[in-house]
Amino acid sequence: MCVYDKKSLKAEEFINDEEIKATLKYADENKDNTELIDKIIEKAKLRKGLDHREASVLLACENEDRLKEIYALAEQIKKDFYGDRIVMFAPLYLSNYCVNGCVYCPYHAKNKHICRKKLTQEEVKNEVIALQDMGHKRLAIESGEDPVNNPIEYILDCIKTIYSIKHKNGAIRRVNVNIAATTVENYRRLKEAGIGTYILFQETYNKESYELLHPTGPKHNYAYHTEAMDRAMQGGIDDVGIGVLFGLELYRYELAGILMHAEHLEAVHGVGPHTISVPRIKRADDIDPDTFDNGIDDETFAKIVAIIRIAVPYTGMIISTRESKSVREKVLRLGVSQISGGSRTSVGGYVEPEPEQDNSAQFDVSDQRSLDEVVKWLMELGYIPSFCTACYREGRTGDRFMTLCKNGQIQNCCHPNALMTLKEYLMDYADEDTKAVGDKLIEQELEKIPNEKVRKIAAEHIADIAENNKRDFRF
Ligand code: SAM
Repeated sequence: MCVYDKKSLKAEEFINDEEIKATLKYADENKDNTELIDKIIEKAKLRKGLDHREASVLLACENEDRLKEIYALAEQIKKDFYGDRIVMFAPLYLSNYCVNGCVYCPYHAKNKHICRKKLTQEEVKNEVIALQDMGHKRLAIESGEDPVNNPIEYILDCIKTIYSIKHKNGAIRRVNVNIAATTVENYRRLKEAGIGTYILFQETYNKESYELLHPTGPKHNYAYHTEAMDRAMQGGIDDVGIGVLFGLELYRYELAGILMHAEHLEAVHGVGPHTISVPRIKRADDIDPDTFDNGIDDETFAKIVAIIRIAVPYTGMIISTRESKSVREKVLRLGVSQISGGSRTSVGGYVEPEPEQDNSAQFDVSDQRSLDEVVKWLMELGYIPSFCTACYREGRTGDRFMTLCKNGQIQNCCHPNALMTLKEYLMDYADEDTKAVGDKLIEQELEKIPNEKVRKIAAEHIADIAENNKRDFRF
């Protein structure tokens, strides 16, 4: 029998099924226990987070007044930790060749009608130029798992190509990587290639379901997949991004699992996940989301985001264009700190839209607006779209980043960095309307920098960006 031990390096001990089931039972027994719920909310107000049991009680709670309190606290913590900044990124699909059998993903090996594509280095270059011309500075590269078609050497070549391209004023300054679980040695090579965050979604923390949902291929191995972040950390990658694919399993099981994973990383490596992603299953080539029994509605989705926000205040939260404009608007307020914009989920989709018969996309995109439309929309909602990559480039990763973040210090550089990178975007890529909205916003926001010296330097840099075509300032 496996015993729950968050410090264990064995998947089934740090994500322990019995502990999750006991947690869900405890949450059910206490969902109307207002005394306990109030105590948990008071603890969350200290901004030091909650453990998986406490968060699970809040998730089970249906008391309207308490839920209002939870949402208000999530909004406040979001503001206190992240200000109004929203970090922008785009996915870049390199290859959809895949040997796995994931039943929710159209890249599964048995899908013989999806168009298989793999970018050549020349095509990577063209995609990157297209992304730079939109204004992106931060990418998440995505690939199916296929040791023959997409070996680690191919991924490393692509990263090298991406960082090498300087087109006009464009540059990709941070490449995050979302590829299948791999070895410590390969993680070391990714680290040496200068990646930002290594992202890997657990899909589901429930081992039994996991094995059914991944019937064939290397991804079938639950322990190898679940222990990937430990290997990544051993390989020197200290920013890791976790997530589950909501809809596959019971969402309450997944919330407990994801928080146990965060607790495990913190206990073993001294640093929790850099980001948590909250994707939901989408329609795709031969995938119908309605065939999965555990889909969650928008209300539940928002509740999950709010609870993650207060449970791990220092962990960034990511939402993709899988979600619609209205859902994105709701969850931005409750906790999400990074969003993608202008995304294409097809291989080669940025250079030219894919002909319909050629479908290579991983899933249908709900938010189909251009990056510029998303940037303008964010600013009109009162947010500051940020293209900042400074922390990673200044070596503020892993526990250095977390320590600054936990002390509330990160905002001292984030706010001016966001404004400077937004100014770059406005000068190089925005249309006239967006530029007008953005320039006004920057003017107002500069005034809010408390430190006079920082305010003055930021204003000088912004003037240099506008008048002298200077780029890439950062605190
Ligand atoms: N092949 C790598 C792996 O196994 O982790 C990379 C991941 S894939 C390119 C990115 C993520 O897309 C997957 O981890 C999965 O959660 C998500 N995904 C797959 N099919 C999806 C669908 N139909 N709708 C929404 N997201 C999906």
